[in-house]
Amino acid sequence: MSTKISIININDYESIPDAIVAAIKMIEEDFHFDILNCKNILLKPNLLRATKDACTQPVFVEGVIKYLKEIGVAMENVSIGDSPGQIKISAEQIAKKISLLEVCEKASIKFINFERDTPVHEVIEGALRLKDYYVSNPVNDCDLLINLPKLKTHGEATITGAIKNYWGIIPGGLKAKYHLLGRNPDQFGEALADNFSWVFKNKPNRLVIYDLHRVMQGTMGPVSGDMKNWNLILVGTDELALDVVALEIGELDGLKYVPHLKNAFERGLGEGNLDNIEIFGLSLEEAKSITPKFKVPGKFMTKLASFITRSIVYKVTKKIPKLKKKLCKKCGQCFEDCPANAINFETDEYPEFLRKVCISCLCCMEMCPQQAIETELRGFGGLFHSY
Ligand code: SF4
Ligand code: SF4
Repeated sequence: MSTKISIININDYESIPDAIVAAIKMIEEDFHFDILNCKNILLKPNLLRATKDACTQPVFVEGVIKYLKEIGVAMENVSIGDSPGQIKISAEQIAKKISLLEVCEKASIKFINFERDTPVHEVIEGALRLKDYYVSNPVNDCDLLINLPKLKTHGEATITGAIKNYWGIIPGGLKAKYHLLGRNPDQFGEALADNFSWVFKNKPNRLVIYDLHRVMQGTMGPVSGDMKNWNLILVGTDELALDVVALEIGELDGLKYVPHLKNAFERGLGEGNLDNIEIFGLSLEEAKSITPKFKVPGKFMTKLASFITRSIVYKVTKKIPKLKKKLCKKCGQCFEDCPANAINFETDEYPEFLRKVCISCLCCMEMCPQQAIETELRGFGGLFHSY
């Protein structure tokens, strides 16, 4: 047996923190790290939208904090963050709306918006889609990454769970560019596996607390699908094993139907064989007996969602940079940072944004030291550009 997973049944909402502590303790011997030696522990929930159903529930963060306090971790060594990649609402605003910020303040842990820091440039060896890659600095810096995914269906990726939750470590609008490198569900699955391969190789100290309390399914996931009570918590250190087990509970063969899981399995990024996974707490059969079948979108819906995402969301609704000449100091930083070479720049001249080449990642806006870049809507003209 190479990988351990605990499965705990939640009796009522109030008991979730205690259940999380119990679930973590069941697999402690599988830790490849000493938590008390970790000085920079980062929690990564799923903060997709300002609705509780679309996000990891704050009570799951409470449970992790309870565990860390019980074993003697100093709260100044703990932080939490995400990058939902939205223009209109920040990670903090989402955390505030779902009452997660309160939990962080009460425990004195720092909330980090991954988008407010210069990302780290990396090259992923063996990547299929994301060779030239940027990752959020707080993720790069942490010495223990605690992943708090929530199981939901996903139009393009089929599901979002333990592996897909790491997509949020890519800062801000860069996610838009990376989405475009995977132009159909299979290619997007390769991009997700590339991103996970960076985590797998560079962040060996990982723990996953999986929110299967209320699971989102159907074609409207991951934002507003149908909510089903599964009343379960899964804990482990192997994301692939956790995703495979979560889907097995919902009677779905993850390695067959979910491109990024199939890809991660083929690359050896974790354990995907159920025979090599040791289960503690509830058995798989007991868990299955209390859970409804997980319904994912069919292939047609997945392809349609991929087309809509590609053609409309990125091409029409995304914003493009606009220069505020009064503030610009002609330093050229935006030109240096643009991943798409969409900025012309000459010494002592203002930068020129090339609309047809711009991929709307807004790195230039994030990096400009003078806040001299604002945005405007790309509009329907965007439909006629390559991105
Ligand atoms: S980074 Fe900002 S200040 Fe510097 S050239 Fe670009 S827009 Fe101007
Ligand atoms: S111009 Fe700005 S928004 Fe456009 S691709 Fe370059 S960095 Fe991204």
